[in-house]
Formats: sequence, C-alpha cells, structure tokens
Amino acid sequence: MDWCKWIPAKCNINGWRMEMDRIPTSESLKKRDVQIGDSLCPMCNSVEETSEHLFIACHVASIVWNEINLWCKIPNIFAFSLKDLLGIHKELRASEKKKEAVHGIVMIVCWSLWRARNNLKFSNKPIKIDSILSDVKAMDYL
Ligand SMILES: [Zn+2]
Repeated sequence: MDWCKWIPAKCNINGWRMEMDRIPTSESLKKRDVQIGDSLCPMCNSVEETSEHLFIACHVASIVWNEINLWCKIPNIFAFSLKDLLGIHKELRASEKKKEAVHGIVMIVCWSLWRARNNLKFSNKPIKIDSILSDVKAMDYL
C-alpha cells in the first residue's frame, strides 16, 4: 500500500491493516477461534460483519461514500473489495494532487467508520453519519 503523507499515521495504519486483512471484525475473530457473542454487523444488525461489509456494503458506509463522492466531486465509488477501495484514486482521471487527496480521504473515512463501529460496539455510542462526515472534513483541512 502507498502511504499517504498528509493524513495522520493512525489512518495509514488502519489502511494497511485493511489491505492485510487484519481488521478484527467479528468474522475474522471467529476464523481465529476467538469466542464472540454476536457476529452481526453492529451498525445494521442484519448481516455477518466482514470487513468488506463494514467498509463498503453496509448502509452506513454507503451513505458516507455517497456524501464523499458529492463532496470530492468524483464519480461514484464502486468498490467490491478493500483493495478496490484503497486503490480507487488510481482510476481517477485527475491530477496527481487530486489523486493523493482522494487517497487520503478514503483512508480517513475508513478509519472514521472503524472508530464509529468501535464506539457503537464497545461504548454503545450511536452511529452519527453527520459526525463521521464532519470528522473527515475537519481532518481534510489539516
Ligand atoms: Zn452493516
């Protein structure tokens, strides 16, 4: 994975873990025989929580990506795998500068989704799509 220089290290590390399939979702914990109670996605409670689901398919993620598309003025983000998602900037017809910006934003969004999921799962904090988006935008201005 290409590290992105303008975003915080924690967002790069999260992106790297996604690429290595090291995000401790319920599905991956189960694979490692870790005892977990409920393996449903905590954000929608309707499907088993895989990292593809969490970062791409879940309705929370899709609403967030939709907003990001509009905000960055880029075509719809179509991703089927985490690799697609993390490489989306490469497919854009845009300047290198814009590609780098989109790459960073994608990683910040993934990090925010993961944090929101953890806050919900472990601290019972409800998901607020607006606050995910405002976190992303605030970080972008750094
Ligand atoms: Zn879900």
